[in-house]
Amino acid sequence: MSVKTCKFCGEKLKKDWIALHKKLLDVDAKEYFCIFCLADTFGCEVEDLEIKIEEFKEQGCILFK
Ligand SMILES: [Zn+2]
Repeated sequence: MSVKTCKFCGEKLKKDWIALHKKLLDVDAKEYFCIFCLADTFGCEVEDLEIKIEEFKEQGCILFK
């Protein structure tokens, strides 16, 4: 399995960030943004997205398994 990197900045992606991108933007996406570029895209803080990730996990979202 190849290492995925952010489409914008080249940051190495964490599994949770890919799941978050799918959840928030496009479930069929082939390219992903890192959490920093996602925060820029949505005009929010990285911390807000980290909270979201935890919420989705608590909800049992299959993307975050
Ligand atoms: Zn990025």
